[in-house]
Amino acid sequence: MSVHQAARTPSDRSVSGWYGLLPPPKAPEVLRGRHKADWIIVGAGFAGLAAARRLSQLVPDDRIVVIDAQRVGWGAAGRNSGFMIDLPHELGGENYGSSQAHDKKRIRMNRAAIEFSGSAAKEYGLQSHFVRSGKIHGAATSHGLRALHDFEGHLTGLSEPFEQLDAADMKRITGTDFFLGGTFTPGTVMAQPAGFIRGLASGLSERVEIFENSPVTTLRPGKEHKVQTLEGEVVAPRLILAVNGHLESFGFFKRRLLHIFTYASMTRQLSETEQATLGGEPHWALIPGDPMGSTLRRIGDRIVVRNTFTYNPAMTTNDRQIQKIGHAHDRSFKARFPMLGDVAMDYRWGGHLCLSLNSAPAFGEIEDRVYVAGCCNGLGTVQGTLYGMLTAELAVGTRHPMVNDALEEPPPSKLYPRPVMAVGAPARLWLMQKRAGREL
Ligand SMILES: Cc1cc2nc3c(=O)[nH]c(=O)nc-3n(C[C@H](O)[C@H](O)[C@H](O)COP(=O)(O)OP(=O)(O)OC[C@H]3O[C@@H](n4cnc5c(N)ncnc54)[C@H](O)[C@@H]3O)c2cc1C
Repeated sequence: MSVHQAARTPSDRSVSGWYGLLPPPKAPEVLRGRHKADWIIVGAGFAGLAAARRLSQLVPDDRIVVIDAQRVGWGAAGRNSGFMIDLPHELGGENYGSSQAHDKKRIRMNRAAIEFSGSAAKEYGLQSHFVRSGKIHGAATSHGLRALHDFEGHLTGLSEPFEQLDAADMKRITGTDFFLGGTFTPGTVMAQPAGFIRGLASGLSERVEIFENSPVTTLRPGKEHKVQTLEGEVVAPRLILAVNGHLESFGFFKRRLLHIFTYASMTRQLSETEQATLGGEPHWALIPGDPMGSTLRRIGDRIVVRNTFTYNPAMTTNDRQIQKIGHAHDRSFKARFPMLGDVAMDYRWGGHLCLSLNSAPAFGEIEDRVYVAGCCNGLGTVQGTLYGMLTAELAVGTRHPMVNDALEEPPPSKLYPRPVMAVGAPARLWLMQKRAGREL
């Protein structure tokens, strides 16, 4: 079998607000020396930890080792906006939906993943990081209202409940009169993503060994797979790769994964006076009716703004790009909350999303006893959990019915040739974001 050398390993830039709000973690356990295990999982995000949790339930006596290049919660799993969405969430379309049959299946699978995370939240006492509050789709333009209308039509077709919100409702909730309308859907869980993922890792650490700051540099599949880091190695008969877009860094799914980054800023704490001036409810979560618009969260005395997608095939961003996009966050914040004047941002960050052109995940057994769960198309908190959990079922051979559903999905489709992607992907993102107008 071939050797897979990592062409690059992740190094996420700048601390995310979610991570920054948590107490510093204890010193990491770095992989050193030679270890033998029954299972190796590379990646300690939603997918890797879901696989680890499910394995720890299915084969409780097995030795399970999880290895991550960074601290748990430092990567995308702790950088996202924390929307664990039960409904379809296609970022490429106009209203997040796809065909009815596809979306019904998606909802069933998403809800199974949310329940799996919910059971972990309960077991490990993470309820403050996992709140079943629902989410609002907000619209600030006639174009946004049309997107909401389409979305509501799609939900009606799926027999999914929702509540229509008018401009006055939106002001009552958010404090701003920026929004013309909204749609509330009840099934979304709002996570403090870094808090949840770190809490999950810490709960699991009783049954699973987790090594951090240990980038995997080489995979040597064989009868006993060998996984090497800079200072150590683990051998085991079964290997799960839960590294999201970095599957491509190991040479898997080449030219099939789209490496997109998105960015967020979190304000400093708002004073009591500022909160009174703003009004509205202390906690709410809003995604834009137009998928290219801005996501907003109020978490008590802070507000988080997320917007802007960029195409970064080298799988990395830099401080300049983060700061530049920070200006777009400031503009969006000011447009929505003019009553707050200039509020400094305490944190600005960016992170990696792995998408595919056909919105398909990377899932299955790609070499003998080497399994993958990745490319979660912008809904990794849920679909990472789902495919992570299902790789464990697949690898143990439990015949879980959703494994077949997942195996029936096509692989990520091929990207266009490199020069077409280099010009076409940024141009398409620019156009879609331009069209979002005031929703951005
Ligand atoms: C700003 C932002 C907002 C977002 N908002 C949302 C949202 O609201 N809801 C949602 O569902 N999704 C959201 N996402 C996407 C979500 O964060 C990802 O889809 C999700 O984290 C994917 O989970 P994962 O476990 O598959 O991958 P990741 O979370 O990326 O985990 C993969 C792990 O593998 C590790 N790794 C990679 N290569 C190696 C290696 N060579 N050796 C060792 N370890 C390695 C990485 O360090 C990483 O920890 C957002 C993303 C960003 C950046």
